[in-house]
Amino acid sequence: MNMLRDSFGRTFPYIRLSITDVCNFKCGYCLPNGYQIDKSDNRKFLHLEEIRRLAKVFSKLGVCKIRLTGGEPTVRKDFFDIIKILKNEAGIKKVVITTNGYHLDEKAKMLVDSGLNGINISIDSLNRNTFKSVTGHDRLPEILKGINILQGLNFENIKINAVLLNGINASDKDFESWGEFIKKNKVDFRYIELMQTGDNLDYFKKYHVSSKIFKEYLNKNNWIYQTLGKDAGPSLNYINPEYKGKFGIIAPYSKDFCRSCNRLRITSRGDLRLCLFGNTGISIRHLLQRDDQI
Ligand code: SAM
Ligand code: SF4
Repeated sequence: MNMLRDSFGRTFPYIRLSITDVCNFKCGYCLPNGYQIDKSDNRKFLHLEEIRRLAKVFSKLGVCKIRLTGGEPTVRKDFFDIIKILKNEAGIKKVVITTNGYHLDEKAKMLVDSGLNGINISIDSLNRNTFKSVTGHDRLPEILKGINILQGLNFENIKINAVLLNGINASDKDFESWGEFIKKNKVDFRYIELMQTGDNLDYFKKYHVSSKIFKEYLNKNNWIYQTLGKDAGPSLNYINPEYKGKFGIIAPYSKDFCRSCNRLRITSRGDLRLCLFGNTGISIRHLLQRDDQI
């Protein structure tokens, strides 16, 4: 089989596909004023048929896992159809999503029934007020209830991501409350270091802190670093036999991050992007217009 491989020898068994730029949250580091239509780009988001063709082509190139992301992927009306089509018609073995967890309590059962293989939920704080101040929405209870429902349905692959923010969610008290959570819940919790974007420079300067502080906390509290497997993603994982879940750190600015990165990204309008730090893409949308092209 032809495998996707770049000039650094990295293979790409996994792609991240954005299916919309729209989002209903207002996270301070991402969309502080909420989603605004990009007037300079009137291209529509990839439609269902384009997504099916795209996934089929990548499946032929050895891609077996697709992560749906956004914006907020669950705001798309055909969101569940997309999951089903990827799994049942495009030959993708694992379909996973990254979501802000909006209405997760109502969606949990449908997510399980759709055949979804994993969910990453972004929760910046277990403190309701802090969660509200970062995201602009008082929705922590429904997200936690949704996680409970998923667990009750024996859905196994649940991860939680929080962006590490100095003075907001980066104290020992915050680390301890996540510790209590993963002691009881078989959920992996990871801090992502805040990344600088073209739009969040002031926010970055104010809140960026190195993940070293969390690493030091883990070392002090007997967490054991788990060596990375060959195809591991960019998260550094830590285990502790007394806890059901794991802790993890995603540090895009660390020196080994790029070596283990296998994030091939496709934007909501069908541009292929190779690097998390780059903003340039190559459009592949014209190759997805007819079945005889794939
Ligand atoms: N809306 C969904 C969500 O929030 O999970 C999916 C899209 S969101 C862009 C994907 C992930 O990127 C989230 O975990 C979010 O916290 C993270 N993220 C967004 N902006 C970031 C930044 N500037 N630095 C680090 N992580 C960021
Ligand atoms: Fe950005 Fe996700 Fe927050 Fe929406 S929920 S503003 S896409 S990080």
